Amino acid sequence: MIYLDHASATPVSDKVLRAMTPFMTDDFFNPSSAYLPAVRVRDAYENAKNSIANSIGAKGNDLVITSGATEANALAMTVVSKNGKILVLETEHASILENVKKYKFDIIKVDKNGLINLDDLKSKLSDEVELVSVSLANNELGTIQPLAEISRILKESRLDRLKRGITTQLLLHSDSSQGLALLELNIARLGVDLMTLNSAKICGPKGVGALYVGHDVRLTPLTSGGGQERGLRAGTENVAGVIGFATAIEAIRGHSSAARKKYTALVSILKKELEKAKIAPIFLGNAKHQLANFLPVSFPGLDAERLVFKLEEQEVYVSTGAACSASKGEPSHVLRAIGLTDTEIAGSLRLSLGVLNDEENVQQAGKIIRKVVDDEVRRIYG
Ligand code: PLP
Repeated sequence: MIYLDHASATPVSDKVLRAMTPFMTDDFFNPSSAYLPAVRVRDAYENAKNSIANSIGAKGNDLVITSGATEANALAMTVVSKNGKILVLETEHASILENVKKYKFDIIKVDKNGLINLDDLKSKLSDEVELVSVSLANNELGTIQPLAEISRILKESRLDRLKRGITTQLLLHSDSSQGLALLELNIARLGVDLMTLNSAKICGPKGVGALYVGHDVRLTPLTSGGGQERGLRAGTENVAGVIGFATAIEAIRGHSSAARKKYTALVSILKKELEKAKIAPIFLGNAKHQLANFLPVSFPGLDAERLVFKLEEQEVYVSTGAACSASKGEPSHVLRAIGLTDTEIAGSLRLSLGVLNDEENVQQAGKIIRKVVDDEVRRIYG
């Protein structure tokens, strides 16, 4: 098989699996228990949390471990008071767009490449806005948002509020599920107060995530019980999952520049092959502001769902838009937001490269995709 859907899921590496296994077998103890073997498990858990946190310039105590990015995103929103409002980008993942409906909210627009419209952000920063949530990189287009610039705008707005005697909070949250392996993240440099991390996208186990919580940020727990995670997320700790997450994050540390280089070269091979198709592909987004492993592409006039199915017959696995919106059978809100026509949306594939790709299989995938596209063109247009 050739797998071109790493934005959706990644395989757990052998190293990660090896690190996790003892914590499901010999070292199965509950980290809250008092006896020595359990205390050792607690230490391993805390070390793993420190390791995850250090990779973004934070401390283990700043993290709340969650069941993945969806829960971390929902927890981040609890920072908002009863009268507060949240601003979110119109291209955010469903876990943001659905959870925000529980609050007062407004939508920030993007441009044709999926980049935040900063003027729209500024115009919507009314005094009741307490949280702005902008993902680090979009999961359909790979568009990387200028978080440091957004943070500067929020800082100005905070100062302006102070001058007028208004002391309501104004915080920045970023869902950083995508891009962790390709961008060096540092919470201080990015200026974020809350940040979602996702193990599943970096060859760690699924169902594990974390929310970085800045020092003066007050959340309301989604679950109550045993007081784990400083009372912010009750429930027995997923020790093996967190050990796996930490091992996965350590494995990518220091390699982002090499990874960017690798994927830029592989994407260029794919692009060249697709450009030879009988229908001119439209490459979506702007490579300058895009994750190096993303290649969202539209073949207008073709049906992407049929392409996915035809590619599957040849064991090439790709997505139409985001896997989650595709399963709802609705046209992608992201592709709509960047102004694609219905025909362009219907013909859109998301190719996302990762650890399972190399020059050879990407070249081969390119040829197979081109052939499937050409067959479809012949079938439809004769
Ligand atoms: N946010 C983004 C940007 C994602 O890409 C995903 C996963 O596809 C999620 C959130 C949801 O992550 P999880 O399924 O781990 O809750």
